[in-house]
Amino acid sequence: MRIILMGPPGAGKGTEAESLVKHYHIPHISTGNIFRELYKDKTTVGKIAKEFIDRGELVPDDITNEIVRHRLSHADAKKGFLFDGYPRNVNQAKAFDEMLISFGWKLDAVINFSVPDEVIVKRISGRRVCEVCGAVYHTENKPPKVENICDVDGGMLIQRVDDMEKTVQRRLRIYNQQTAPVIGYYEEKGSIIHVDGTKSIQEVDQTIKKVLGEMN
Ligand code: AMP
Ligand code: ZN
Repeated sequence: MRIILMGPPGAGKGTEAESLVKHYHIPHISTGNIFRELYKDKTTVGKIAKEFIDRGELVPDDITNEIVRHRLSHADAKKGFLFDGYPRNVNQAKAFDEMLISFGWKLDAVINFSVPDEVIVKRISGRRVCEVCGAVYHTENKPPKVENICDVDGGMLIQRVDDMEKTVQRRLRIYNQQTAPVIGYYEEKGSIIHVDGTKSIQEVDQTIKKVLGEMN
């Protein structure tokens, strides 16, 4: 199964991604996570990426596409994959098409989450992330058992700089300007599944698995 999840930040892609990769036994490829790891490992690329991320801007396409190409060359990508957060503009979508051709692969599904901007801002500003393992919580929707402490490893929960309200507004603006056109790009190819991201996690998950199941 080769899937792309699309939708604004905070649309619920990450949660659904975790469910789908378990179900289909495929790697979850999040370019945002890769950038954050590269930064944690103190790499040059990571440091460059961080400047864009903290401003809520897109990391330049040449860097992003190269990271994706490299990730696709890992053995586990042969089983299939789920992309979350890539492609983020039409230029990346075209570069991705070329990569897929070069590997001899075809996409099975592009899933698009739609969620109104106001809902997004509320969702993201409540988001907290474990400093140690990166597990994601929400002050209202998915609180940890003990306030500000990770259930998994007792790590401190923090708010990412790019999750602060002003940055979220900018990320949404960029999403609407640059990423939304990618939906049209895949619609023309006739391979997009639309999902209402305001529905409950369970409902979204069931709908998607049903549609994907019917495709096989
Ligand atoms: P995410 O975790 O997907 O919300 O990504 C966090 C940040 O990483 C984004 O706001 C961008 O700054 C950067 N990023 C992630 N994926 C991409 C991409 N495909 N192209 C450019 N920048 C990206
Ligand atoms: Zn943790």
